[in-house]
Amino acid sequence: MKYALVTGGSRGIGRAISIKLAEMGYSVLVNYQSNTVAAEETKKMIENAGGTVELLPFDVANKNAVEQALTVWQTAHTDDYIAVLVNNAGIRKDNLMFWLSDEEWQSVIDTSLNGAFYATRFLVKYMLNKKFGRIINIVSISGVNGMAGQTNYSAAKAGIIGMTKALALETAKKRVTCNAVAPGFIETDMTKNLNADELKKLVPAQRFGKPEEVADLVGFLTSEKASYITGQVIAISGGL
Ligand code: NDP
Repeated sequence: MKYALVTGGSRGIGRAISIKLAEMGYSVLVNYQSNTVAAEETKKMIENAGGTVELLPFDVANKNAVEQALTVWQTAHTDDYIAVLVNNAGIRKDNLMFWLSDEEWQSVIDTSLNGAFYATRFLVKYMLNKKFGRIINIVSISGVNGMAGQTNYSAAKAGIIGMTKALALETAKKRVTCNAVAPGFIETDMTKNLNADELKKLVPAQRFGKPEEVADLVGFLTSEKASYITGQVIAISGGL
């Protein structure tokens, strides 16, 4: 059985990625923080389609919680390892820099940037040892170009992009690839309070993307066909 962990897999983009990886034959570990109802729904969707899934709740921003949950899983699966890691969990707390509170800064960095670090550091050693792995970090166009009102979020995502590029250099010769996927506006809970009609006008494709479109790209990056792609940031943004 091949295992894949999707952080923030209960809703939105993470749910679509979890479903996609299950369709591809992975046994999917769906991480989430607190929304058990949404996580159970994702689990049911995967099982109804004949897939294998396990819920693995923990707060990615909490180093001890990440390491404890993954240690417990690994101890129960001594012959297996998690070959695919999708660092997808993320939050946004937008504000202009001069109003940005310590909490708004810290929580976004802790969840998006530090969370990706804790999970990756734990799992990459198994991937290197087994000489195969896929690490896919869900970043954002905000981390590539910057976005007003999102200095915290842009910094976190740009930090993950740097981590992606450097880690790819460390792992390439052991057949472990590490890439980042940078979505533009995607229809999820994270964007439901935005003024979609106005924002669509900024997108050359004139629409928001769907979580399933991001999931298809992630699915390709996990496949054997993507073996020669590493250290890249691939935008999926309708041209934004
Ligand atoms: P959603 O808000 O729809 O879902 C967020 C997911 O992350 C949920 O599963 C949530 O769990 C989980 N999560 C949040 N904080 C934590 C935490 N501390 N520990 C574990 N899980 C956590 O977000 P999206 O699907 O829209 O976004 C997914 C990723 O894509 C994020 O990294 C986001 O930054 C990025 N992105 C999204 C874009 C968009 O337009 N939607 C654009 C560009 C990037 P729970 O259900 O328990 O709350």
